[in-house]
Amino acid sequence: MKEKIITKKILKWYDLNKRPLPWRKKVSVEKKQYYTLISEFMLQQTQVITVIPFFNRFIKNLPSINSLAKVSEKKLIKLWEGLGYYSRARNLKKSAQVILKNFDGKLPDNFEDLITLPGIGNYTANAILAIAFNKPYIPLDGNIERVLKRYLYLKKDKEIQKDYLLQKKIVFGKTLRSSDYAQALMELGALICKPNNPICAQCPIIKNCKSYKKKDFSLIKNIKKNKDKYFVLKVYKKNQRYLLIKNKKFNFLKNLTIFPMEELSNPKNFNKNLNFKMSNMNMNIKIEYSNDNKKFPYSYWVDGTKMNSYMLPSFTKKIVQYLEKN
Ligand code: SF4
Repeated sequence: MKEKIITKKILKWYDLNKRPLPWRKKVSVEKKQYYTLISEFMLQQTQVITVIPFFNRFIKNLPSINSLAKVSEKKLIKLWEGLGYYSRARNLKKSAQVILKNFDGKLPDNFEDLITLPGIGNYTANAILAIAFNKPYIPLDGNIERVLKRYLYLKKDKEIQKDYLLQKKIVFGKTLRSSDYAQALMELGALICKPNNPICAQCPIIKNCKSYKKKDFSLIKNIKKNKDKYFVLKVYKKNQRYLLIKNKKFNFLKNLTIFPMEELSNPKNFNKNLNFKMSNMNMNIKIEYSNDNKKFPYSYWVDGTKMNSYMLPSFTKKIVQYLEKN
């Protein structure tokens, strides 16, 4: 009973307060499914506000699953440039190809088939089923997880584990408006139950919120520590130009243009020049200039003063910036 009341209150709040995001526009059923697929991939590692212009440009250039399946690698990467985590773009294209080949060009409407698509895991499948197909799923993203933890005051180690949270989300109840409801819960987390300073006075579920009662909004995170990794990055420089290669070796930035690099395992006295956070890595990078005549497959020279005219991942651009300054 309590769940039903919560559901109603949250939906009512959403109807009055939702943001007019481009993937929420009223469009045909087919387009809605396509928009959900694209936006969910983009939102996997990126905030809403950043995604909006990329989403608009992407669907303008690639308005359907068909066009996405046939897009050239070059155009795809160009459209994704700036969003990072390029494997998402490649998986999107592969998914579109599988959808054309195995599913008659239609995004699958069930969990078992969705999960077979490249880049679609448990969470994204839940989000697509709820948002695009109005099925009674609640995807547990960071926003919904925060609302859940605060609403139920979940703090203990066992209470903040994923499996436990997945069981507890039942507290949000069910509705026939599953699509709106999944988005409403995400929106509630994004706009009201914010990580810092939640705006409880405007929250539709304040009455039964345990954190509000205790006036304790702190959150315990299940911290995943980034792995320390060590790389020696080789700089070959002639006049203003740097030698870059197509990355066939490392799983990160696969097939994109990087400097030649070697990974070292647990080196002693490693004097890093640079540090990057990428995926689940803490990358420690030592730069070495070299002028040996080593030949690299898939290599080419780029002008360090004209970086913006090349299609490069921001990782490589940042290294060039560093080299130009030092
Ligand atoms: S009352 Fe405050 S803490 Fe509780 S769910 Fe709402 S915004 Fe979050």
